[in-house]
Formats: sequence, structure tokens, C-alpha cells
Amino acid sequence: MRIPQTGLSKQEILAALQAFKTRDMDWKAGKVFGYVYNPGEDPAEVMKEAYLAYLTENGLDPTVFPSLLKVETDVVRMIATLLRGDANVVGNLTSGGTESIMLAVKTARDQARVEKPQIREPEMILPRTAHAAFHKAAHYLSVKPVVVEIDPATFKVRAEDMEKAITANTILLVASAPNYSQGVVDPIADIGRLAQKHNLLFHVDGCVGGIHLSFMRKLGYDIPDFDFSVPGVTSISADMHKYGYAAKGCSVVMYRSKELRKYQIFACSDTLGYTLINPTVLSSKSGGPSAGAWAILNFLGEEGYSRIIKTVQDATKKLIDGINSIPGLRVLGQPVMCMFSFASDEINVYQLADEMGRRGWYLQGQFSTPLTPRNLHISVNFGNADRADALLSDLRACVEIVKAKPPIDTDAIKALIGGALQSPDPEAAFNQLAASAGLTGTSLPSELAFINEALDALPDSICNLILTNFFNDLYV
Ligand SMILES: *Cc1c(COP(=O)(O)O)cnc(C)c1O
Repeated sequence: MRIPQTGLSKQEILAALQAFKTRDMDWKAGKVFGYVYNPGEDPAEVMKEAYLAYLTENGLDPTVFPSLLKVETDVVRMIATLLRGDANVVGNLTSGGTESIMLAVKTARDQARVEKPQIREPEMILPRTAHAAFHKAAHYLSVKPVVVEIDPATFKVRAEDMEKAITANTILLVASAPNYSQGVVDPIADIGRLAQKHNLLFHVDGCVGGIHLSFMRKLGYDIPDFDFSVPGVTSISADMHKYGYAAKGCSVVMYRSKELRKYQIFACSDTLGYTLINPTVLSSKSGGPSAGAWAILNFLGEEGYSRIIKTVQDATKKLIDGINSIPGLRVLGQPVMCMFSFASDEINVYQLADEMGRRGWYLQGQFSTPLTPRNLHISVNFGNADRADALLSDLRACVEIVKAKPPIDTDAIKALIGGALQSPDPEAAFNQLAASAGLTGTSLPSELAFINEALDALPDSICNLILTNFFNDLYV
């Protein structure tokens, strides 16, 4: 494909872009339980206008666009206050949870380089439920991830298990409030004590929970302390673009003090070009996401968020109770907010997800581990809260359909995989297997049960290799 010789009209362009969406999941119908967080029409409209009003302004340089400095400091102050930080707590807006997490890990690494120079191979301790963004940060920043198993009954990490993993090279402890996979909150206060006892930094991943859990607490729900009120917590990430309901491209990373945050900032005056000073990863960046976040916080206010969160929690309770009452399904752990997962000892939940997919619902498959079963994830938000009854009724019907279907032959899949593992060129053998399962070329598979089943049965390293190859082929 080449750039068109003559430009298209506005109409043609917008029509084409709209047409590209035909195979997308229809999030507006409230059937996608993940990916999209919809605050409702009026707030979304205000946010969109605010975003567009700052689309062109560049967050690169606060001396050129002081408006964006004001917008950013307002958002950070509002969220830091919500998370019970004192006046010493500082932070920045980033492009998302991943960037916030990467920066918290970089900050820990660079502080250790100065304050603990004897550490040559820094390690961070991650519960098995920590988000993959920490593994990505570890990979990018050369910090070793030390993974600690969780209690398979509660899906929470135990502080004593984390303590056992501490070595002379440990620089950072990580816990989630809550974790994405099962929506449970790790014992933050216990881990905070551990951090203080061992003089370690402690990051709380509040990417999904930071805002939602804080409003739940204000509404009187029983929420364990997870924020800056907990001694030992040194940094927190909270995504505006998840349960802050802001447009995508906005998260907040916060630190206990400026002394710590300074390790996040990068400055470079070593070139012929402009002096570069970046508090975060991005350099040139649209002011849109920050302005959108500012707008949604000010438009909804505490009242608006409280209303949304009450609605979402009522729907979540209905869904959790409803799913637990369907014979053969059970919700895992004790989810605190509006994200949870469920498993089955009777049917293959990946087949259930496909069956629900045929009816337009998106439920996310999650893999098993030696300690935990394969399961499906649901993130409830304001945009799908009113679909709880419809979801439950389709779920009941689909469970029956799957029960009547021939099960996926897991043993056969395992045998195929075993064979490929023995082959002289396992990578080629697996790519061939992936191709026969439809996981190849530039089109996306529509039935995922077989693929999920096969990937779940693979060792993680091979699974990662296959997925890398798949995406390497999917994109040009
Ligand atoms: C989504 C998520 C992240 C990563 O955030 P992105 O905005 O997708 O980069 C990190 N932690 C948790 C718990 C999450 O749910």
C-alpha cells in the first residue's frame, strides 16, 4: 500500500474509518466485560471535548504550555488526596498503567544504584498475581523478577512468603490493590511492615483499584487500607483510563516524596538539540489525555463517582451471586470490587467463552497454573452494569450448550504438544501446530477454545514464543 496520490475527502475518510470497525466488539452494547470503561453519555461527551481542546498542545515543555502543567498537577493532587497522601506525596501523569509501573521500577532501580551501590543484580519480588507490566518492566530495565506463589484459596500473596524471597539484592516489593486476575487485594499493611523492616521500597499497583476502592471506602464498604495511609508504601499507580473513566492514555504514578521521585526524571543536555527534561517515558505528547482526565474528575465530582461506583457494585454483587448459583460455576476468591473470575470443574470455560462470544459477549480467558484452575475474567463497569441480568441468562443457557457438546480433547492436545517438544526444532513444530489451530497469518481466529487449551498446556516460555511469532506475523 502507498500513500494515496491525491488526498481523500473528509467524508470518505470518516466513512472508511467507521467501516473498519465492523468486526470490532460492540462495546456500546455493554457486552464487553473488559477493555472499555464507559461513564455514560454526558460525561463521555464533556471529556471528548476537553480532550480535543488539548489535542494539539504538547506536554513536552511546561514552560511553553503552562496550562498542561496546571492540568497535570491538579489531577495528581486530586488523586493523591483521594489516596490519602500528605503534602509530600508527588506524582506525574503517564500514558497508562504500564508506563506508571515501569517508572516505579526504574525509580527503585536508580535509587538503589545510588543508595545501595553494592547491588549489581537488582531483584523485585512479585506475587504470581502481579500484572504482566512488572515482568515487562523487569525485561526492559534489567531487574530480576522474583515470583512468589499466592495462597490458592484466597489468591492473595502471604507476607511471610514474600519475606522468604528477600535477598541482599532485593530493591522493591510489589503488591496489588486489587490484582486484575481475581480482583482480590493483597495484605498491603503486612507487606508495608516488611518493607520497613528490610528497608525496601514498596509499590502498590492500584491501576484498577486506586480510584474505585477509595470511593468504595468513602461509601462505607469494608475495604482494607491499601493507600498512602499504610506505612511502608512508597509508590502507587492508579489509572485514570480504567475506573477513573478517563479517555485512554492517562494514569497517575505517585511517590511518598520528592527525594524518591527524582530518580524517575531524565534530563539530557548532551546534544546539539534542545535540552530534554522528561519526568516520564514519553517526550512529545498530546495534552488530550491529561485534559480529558481533568475534565472527567471535575465533571463527575465525588458525587458522580459515588453514584457510578454504587451502581457498578450492585451489578457486581448480582453477577457474583448469580454465577455462584449456576451449577458447575464458581467465583474464585473473595473479589473486593468489580473485577472477578470464575472457574468450572464440570465444563471447559474456554468453550463457554466461545459460546458467549456467539451471543456477542466478551469474557476473557485466563490460564491455569499448577495451583489454580483456568478461568474466565469479568470486569464490570458503568457501561455494562445494566446488562447483568442479560449476561446471567445467556450464561445459564450457554453452560447447558457446552455441557451437551463433546469436550475438547485435552489429552490429545497434550500429546501433540509433547510430540512437538521432543522434535529437533520445537519452535518450527509449534508454529506448525499453531497454524493448524488457526493461529497464523494475518487474520484473527474466531474460536479460541482450542487455542486457549493448547496454550494453557504449554510451558510458559514456549507459549510466549508462539505468541510472539503470532504477533510478528499479524502486524506488517
Ligand atoms: C491494566 C492493568 C495494568 C496495566 O495498565 P495499562 O493501562 O493497560 O498499561 C497494571 N496493573 C493492573 C492491576 C491492571 O489491571
